[in-house]
Amino acid sequence: IVRMERVNKHFGELHVMRDIDLSVAPGEVVVIIGASGSGKSTLIRCVNGLEPFQSGRIEVDGNTLSPNGASGKSLQAVRTEVGMVFQQFNLFPHLSIRDNVTLAPRKVRGWTRQQADDTARRLLERVGIIDQADKFPGQLSGGQQQRVALARALAMEPRLMLFDEPTSALDPEMIGEVLDAMRELANDGMTMMIVTHEMGFAREVADRVVFVHNGQIVEQGPPAALFDTPQHDRTQAFLSRVL
Ligand code: ATP
Ligand code: MG
Repeated sequence: IVRMERVNKHFGELHVMRDIDLSVAPGEVVVIIGASGSGKSTLIRCVNGLEPFQSGRIEVDGNTLSPNGASGKSLQAVRTEVGMVFQQFNLFPHLSIRDNVTLAPRKVRGWTRQQADDTARRLLERVGIIDQADKFPGQLSGGQQQRVALARALAMEPRLMLFDEPTSALDPEMIGEVLDAMRELANDGMTMMIVTHEMGFAREVADRVVFVHNGQIVEQGPPAALFDTPQHDRTQAFLSRVL
């Protein structure tokens, strides 16, 4: 469903993605790990067109993103089909939880209020916060807000979900509830690309772990292989710091 081919990106002098080749199969869960500044966020932001890139191509569910932002209609299609959850929850503070979840499907998909409300109820139940539907984001804990952000992304019925350190801004006691919701989503067969520092979660949920260093994919493989018998010095050095 995702195919990145020789993707290169520069921020001025800084070469932040170097010939990235990465494909993701439908239903696959790919976890991306690497040191701070290695280019993990940039990589997944390119997949839903949040960042332009200078060469190569990215195909998402049959839509091709081109270098230098020349993607036009496919960019719109990709943004509609790809859901994203960030470190900061980015909820609309002036909207109720229910309205946070129903806004995009009503505006972008043209759903009726009834349709959108029914979907919101189902999704908020699924992430365990249906009782908070009439509250506002500021009245919820961080873990609850992040589960709303997840429900909001799912309301658009995405074909692919991207996560950029979804638990890094949370108090430790709230990390588990967000990871549980993500685990359930993975078990339901959602295709997911996840940047995280939660190595236990990666080991358990990932089909494949990708290690990025200096804008390059240095090594990738099934979690057991990558964590237990990393082949590359860089991977070994990184894992010895974080495990
Ligand atoms: P972290 O683990 O800290 O989130 P990361 O692996 O996600 O790091 P990126 O955010 O992708 O790293 O950044 C990769 C490199 O690109 C870093 O050196 C960063 O400083 C640089 N960078 C990121 N965004 C920009 C920007 N908008 N303008 C210029 N440089 C940027
Ligand atoms: Mg990042």
